[in-house]
Amino acid sequence: MIFRQLFDSQSWTYTYLLAERRGGEALIIDPVLDGVPRYLRLIRELDLQLVMAVDTHIHADHVTGMGRLRQATRCAAAMGEQARTECLSLCFREGETLRVDGIALEALYTPGHTDDSYSLVLPDRVFTGDTLLIGGTGRTDFQNGDPGAQYDSLFGKLLMLPDDLVVYPAHDYEGRTSSTIGMERRFNPRLQVDSREAYVEQMNALALEPPRLIDVAVPANRACGLDIAA
Ligand code: FE
Repeated sequence: MIFRQLFDSQSWTYTYLLAERRGGEALIIDPVLDGVPRYLRLIRELDLQLVMAVDTHIHADHVTGMGRLRQATRCAAAMGEQARTECLSLCFREGETLRVDGIALEALYTPGHTDDSYSLVLPDRVFTGDTLLIGGTGRTDFQNGDPGAQYDSLFGKLLMLPDDLVVYPAHDYEGRTSSTIGMERRFNPRLQVDSREAYVEQMNALALEPPRLIDVAVPANRACGLDIAA
């Protein structure tokens, strides 16, 4: 499998490019608008055809490159059915499989960070968006975030996955690139709670600053990033 983890240094976002083989079809997860020229170059160099771009949720900290990629490559733009956007060509729901040329990603609805958050599962890895981060979890204080729902997504879904599944989050702020479900269950400080109430209390006590770009990024991302002047 061709697999590239790409980093945006402005928003500390990880974008993932996947394809079964050189010369085949490709899928990209959580592309950043500023990264589009770089993604297109890489796709060309690997002789791939981009057929799908997926956002794990409506991001508040960067503008998505999904719409721009769709314009450039005619790829499908996909998000979960809960995303309130009008620019998508494909909506998926819990349990559905996104298929691209030998790659089958299962959509797992994992709300909490936002109410449109999904994780995407392959047999050996899981893309957790901002639901499960390395040593952390996504904040739950805006965009219909809900710490109780996040607890259910984490403990009822993601932590039920096999221990050795590799975790690829949408962000890391310390340069870590991946983890595993087992490592996060044991060592992620946010997951060391003994009840849903304790998790909710912990999240509600965070008192974080709003993301710098939220007033720009959220409206732009409802249009797949296409109403932003280039
Ligand atoms: Fe997010």
